[in-house]
Amino acid sequence: MSAVKPPRPAAAVSSYRPETRLVHGGTLRSQFGETSEALFLTQGFVYDSAEECEARFTGENPGFLYSRFSNPTVAMFERRMCALEGAEAARATATGMAAVTAAVFAPLRAGDHVVAAKAMFGSCRWVVEDMLPRYGIESTLVDGLDLDQWKRAMRPNTRTLFLESPTNPTLDVLDIGAVAAIAHAGGARLIVDNVFATPMWQSPLALGADVVVYSATKHIDGQGRCLGGVILSSEQFIADHIHMFLRQTGPSMSPFNAWMLLKGMETLALRVRQQTENATAVAEALAHHPKIARLIYPGRADHPQAATVRKQMRGGSTLVGFEVAGGKAAAFRFLNALKLALITNNLGDSKTLVTHPATTTHQRLKPEQRAELGIGEGFIRFSAGIEHPDDIVADLLAALEAV
Ligand SMILES: *Cc1c(COP(=O)(O)O)cnc(C)c1O
Repeated sequence: MSAVKPPRPAAAVSSYRPETRLVHGGTLRSQFGETSEALFLTQGFVYDSAEECEARFTGENPGFLYSRFSNPTVAMFERRMCALEGAEAARATATGMAAVTAAVFAPLRAGDHVVAAKAMFGSCRWVVEDMLPRYGIESTLVDGLDLDQWKRAMRPNTRTLFLESPTNPTLDVLDIGAVAAIAHAGGARLIVDNVFATPMWQSPLALGADVVVYSATKHIDGQGRCLGGVILSSEQFIADHIHMFLRQTGPSMSPFNAWMLLKGMETLALRVRQQTENATAVAEALAHHPKIARLIYPGRADHPQAATVRKQMRGGSTLVGFEVAGGKAAAFRFLNALKLALITNNLGDSKTLVTHPATTTHQRLKPEQRAELGIGEGFIRFSAGIEHPDDIVADLLAALEAV
């Protein structure tokens, strides 16, 4: 790394507020002194001598070896995420699911046991419920809101607790500190999927979690361009459980995607703040609408876990959940009448997006499993974009007229 100037000291960046860390954290400037982060599209690296090459491989000399293991642009993304989240170490992955799978699976072996909240992203549930048992790792799914269920599920061989909060798509807010305490009392770790809260509104490590995972595909890119994921934790967890797994199995993030995500992070605070304001305006406009049977928004005083929201979140959410009265037919009529909001299964984008979970993200579940999670046939997951709130609200109200 002789051509790379020493990075800005970490202490200087960590004294800044999150908005500032999002713009400057983790920058590795090359000898050219570029303003924007450099994009190192390279598979490998060359060495001044065979001795230098040997010293890099033994770890005696620091530096990059091969982009499956590490790359300067990917390292900038990891360092910026660490600066934002207050984590000691991070590893970027190709997708959010690669991050979840590595964080959950890599530290475990046959005979271990996992407890997870049953309300979670469909693919995460598949990893815990279907994949782990094939390798002799048992899993128990609990109602994440019920602390007694977490406690009762603990066994001597329980190694990992896993949850998502707010949950997808019904926006329940689980008590991260209380579940972390249950995990630690039983000698286990807590992994939190923090996608729905975003790093702006919730810091699971500060609340007691041991590991945080993100799908960077969502708010961190936030502009519909690329997939990505990241695992944040202690140096020790990354060194003991994640480093070798990723290095040897290869679900690495592309430097090009890391560069897009770095540029996404620069505007993350602005976007998430506007999206949250827009989601609040939508929740306000629809909460008492005669064609809306039920509305859930973590920023409202009538949210069922409003006390937990106040305790652990700094902002509401960019998402709103609501049930259109009249089931699937009414929900489809509503979706088809929207002109601005786009029908999709993604979330966290600059563009306002709407999803019908029962026929898309949660279609794999049986109707009674969906009912248990509160996902009715008329349920809509609304993801606020950064458009003008009045245009978004007008679009939703006009579409409800068609129902
Ligand atoms: C999207 C999502 C994932 C998976 O991320 P990908 O980048 O699509 O692989 C995991 N967890 C949550 C909560 C998500 O919303």
